[in-house]
Amino acid sequence: MENIFEEIFDYVKDLGIIDTHEHLPSREELRDKDTDILKEYLSHYFNRDLISSGLPVEDYQQIVEKKLPIMDKWKIVEKYWESSRFTGYGRALDISVQGLYGIEKIDASTIEELNSRFLKTLEPGYFKKVLKEKCRIETSLLNVETLAEDHDPLQERSMHCDRDLYSPVYSISDCIFPNQWSAIEKLEKQSGIAITSFERWLEAVGSLIDKAYRLGAVALKNPLAYQRTLKYERTSRSSAEEEFNSILKVKHYPDWIIKPVIPGKNFQDYVFHFILDIANKNDLVIQIHTGIQEGNGNILSNSNPELLSNLFLEYPNVAFDIFHISYPYQNELTVLAKNYPNVYIDMCWAHIVSPNSSVESLVEWIDTVPLNKISAFGGDYLFVDGVYGHQYMARLGVAKALSIKVKEKIFDIDKAKQISKMLFYDNPRQIFGLDKKT
Ligand SMILES: [Zn+2]
Repeated sequence: MENIFEEIFDYVKDLGIIDTHEHLPSREELRDKDTDILKEYLSHYFNRDLISSGLPVEDYQQIVEKKLPIMDKWKIVEKYWESSRFTGYGRALDISVQGLYGIEKIDASTIEELNSRFLKTLEPGYFKKVLKEKCRIETSLLNVETLAEDHDPLQERSMHCDRDLYSPVYSISDCIFPNQWSAIEKLEKQSGIAITSFERWLEAVGSLIDKAYRLGAVALKNPLAYQRTLKYERTSRSSAEEEFNSILKVKHYPDWIIKPVIPGKNFQDYVFHFILDIANKNDLVIQIHTGIQEGNGNILSNSNPELLSNLFLEYPNVAFDIFHISYPYQNELTVLAKNYPNVYIDMCWAHIVSPNSSVESLVEWIDTVPLNKISAFGGDYLFVDGVYGHQYMARLGVAKALSIKVKEKIFDIDKAKQISKMLFYDNPRQIFGLDKKT
């Protein structure tokens, strides 16, 4: 068994990758330079394990908001770090510092040296070195929230991203769920259409999607399982319009009062169906967040992919790229991907959320789901070092799953290698139509 795994891993570790999902800065020069290794590494994911293990939120805020000597910051988190080190998030960080800095692990004895090496990476050229040379990623699908060139890089990423590194995916969050007045103004500005009615809203949404594709988008993204249920019902235009009208009611509030915007569910449902209709006409791909929500506390059942079944049926020409293996609903996703020709499994984020479930799921899918429907890797990181740890764990997990199947004599080692290339490279390239674009 050991030899089978070694031989497969030896091949898989050098494979080129299409990375299906990232939140990295649009351009390297937009990276936050006022930083240190703990501020960057704890900007998401592992900070949640630390908080879950007992780190007070106020103490966490000192790490990301205060300028303190790095050892002082380490002392704040040390106890919680040691209880969480072996989670997928924790392991990814240790693997990152091994691979990128040649240091065994993050602890009291290494943190100062690590931080000084980390600060040297703020020089230009580092993103390319990590993503292309160390991770062998051909392109990363970047989640972008704006079509504008000037934007706040800490808040959003732009369609005008570095195309040597990224292929943009346009988030339709603001179109369906504008949760502050500025989101409405942003839509107005970027579409060039004044929002004076529900009709104009739909026109603006259509024109933004059109513009996103003209600027090179390879897919759309719906991240809204963080805020609402994935059940998008078919609603009447009149009920959606009524709810939209109530959004506009606060337009006259003076600028020194926050204008509250809470879009009703009929409005949200209607607009997503409207977008899916455009996607269906044009054979577009939609990436959808399902399963575990990042952050401490949410309503997990909102994110069950089974809630999307009506959409899979109603929009057969849309390719639904279902994120994060829907963990912990991976069994539901198995059946959806098995039964619907337009449902694809995306393992982005999964190998660090649960390395074990990722391997087990892949073993299960080899038994149940056609192999062309699975993409093996999306880093889903805000900071570039994390991508290294994640891709390494993804390669390890895929090699493990395939070696289990070789041992069961389902296929031989050569076939396992060929399948690994499909999962990491050929499938995402095909699903996102990247052949046509390059
Ligand atoms: Zn994401």
